[in-house]
Amino acid sequence: MFIDGEWVKSNKTLPVVNPTTGATMATVPAATASDVDRAAQAARKAFDEGPWKTTTAQDRGKLLFKLAEAIRQNADDLAKTDTQNMGKPIVEAEFDVNDAANCFEYYGGLATKIHGQTLTVPDNAVSMVMREPVGVVGQIIPWNYPLLMSAWKLGPAMAAGCTSVLKPAEQSPLSALKLAKLMEQVGFPKGVVNIVTGDGPEAGAAMVVHPQIDKIAFTGGTEAGKHIIKNSADTMKRLTMELGGKNPNLVFADADFNAAVDGALFGAFANQGEVCSAGSRLLVEESIYAKFVKELAERGKRVKIGDPMKRETKMGPLVSKEHRERVLSYIAIGKKEAKLVLGGGAPTDGELAKGWFVEPTIFVDVAENARIMREEIFGPVLAVAPFKNEADAIRMANDTPYGLAAGVWTRDVMKGLRVMKEIRAGIQWLNTYHPTYNEAPWGGYKQSGFGRELGLFGIEAYLEVKQLNINLREEPIAWY
Ligand code: ADP
Repeated sequence: MFIDGEWVKSNKTLPVVNPTTGATMATVPAATASDVDRAAQAARKAFDEGPWKTTTAQDRGKLLFKLAEAIRQNADDLAKTDTQNMGKPIVEAEFDVNDAANCFEYYGGLATKIHGQTLTVPDNAVSMVMREPVGVVGQIIPWNYPLLMSAWKLGPAMAAGCTSVLKPAEQSPLSALKLAKLMEQVGFPKGVVNIVTGDGPEAGAAMVVHPQIDKIAFTGGTEAGKHIIKNSADTMKRLTMELGGKNPNLVFADADFNAAVDGALFGAFANQGEVCSAGSRLLVEESIYAKFVKELAERGKRVKIGDPMKRETKMGPLVSKEHRERVLSYIAIGKKEAKLVLGGGAPTDGELAKGWFVEPTIFVDVAENARIMREEIFGPVLAVAPFKNEADAIRMANDTPYGLAAGVWTRDVMKGLRVMKEIRAGIQWLNTYHPTYNEAPWGGYKQSGFGRELGLFGIEAYLEVKQLNINLREEPIAWY
């Protein structure tokens, strides 16, 4: 792992498994609390004393542009790394790499556009607002978009002038390590970015309580998020939390039928459904429900499951054996709760037998209180139910503790916008599902978390706000 500009080991290791073959593809250090402490001290020093403190915003921006360039030059290797490490189809991994480069470029441009304010105050004085970097940030990321999540975290942090200790997920640490190599190569000074590989309970937990870390930026499950919020209280960390979802995708009868069927499948099954914003709850207007469900099950057969390194593959294996067991246990629950119309098993033929594959699975006529309708499964399992009318659609969409994303399909844009306004979720799409823009704020309502990543909001999350008041009166206050 990468601490204070050096490639170091720890006294324990973690195996990194390729989920397509079950084979161990690498071994990385399992960071202990003392490794995390070294990384935090290095980041603290780089922030408090330099070199990052004295690096200009222009130079920080230039480094981010160079990093984006280096990512593009190494795109094939980075895409292959994520695909082999966590199972996403290679074509999707290539999109991620391009998005990651774009994200660093976006924030490279923003580094020089961090502004303050001057305020009119009721006094002979000038009040100013300055924005300053939050300090040392601990960034904890999940395994579903390993490289892209590193970019979402490091892009704005570096642009803002923060230093970082970043922990990739224990299942998928390889692309973050490769990214650190590229950061070293393009000239990020030592201590500015530290990558600690390790698990949540030990390495992640040590970051959350570390007194030298000012902020935790976390993306992961809601349960882990709740632990982190509680454990970070004693050191009063700033927090951004991007957590789970059980996102409604609403199809009205007047939607473009073909586009909506496509969008429903893509929303549910892209990246094996291992997406916090997946459209995992499909709600369809009663009058087209039967026809829609039939077509969905039919077209769902086209989701090509297989070796994610093959370009024609549209669904790879799940990330790990443990995760597959969890997803299969939900499918077993679903079989008792609803009607299965597609998939429902783990393929066993040929090459697929070796990996952690799960078939794209669709349940229909799912009751509102069914567990597969309410709980995040984080796999290729879609729960479908009908709704009666606009009011019913809104009520069902909001009937969840989560509030991350939502999709709406209708040709009536006024109705679409009315519905989107009523849905309590931070990311919404009309007549599409999943496009994600570096320019637009990403984050959830309710138990899907708080704070926003990406866009201008994303850099704000790495800035403190300071007011400076300058008295213009010569005479003393003469209070006493
Ligand atoms: P999943 O996406 O499988 O639900 P988690 O939310 O458990 O994953 O994990 C996301 C990230 O959070 C990973 O990097 C993991 O190591 C880390 N993590 C898990 N639990 C904790 C914890 N209690 N404290 C800090 N980090 C944690």
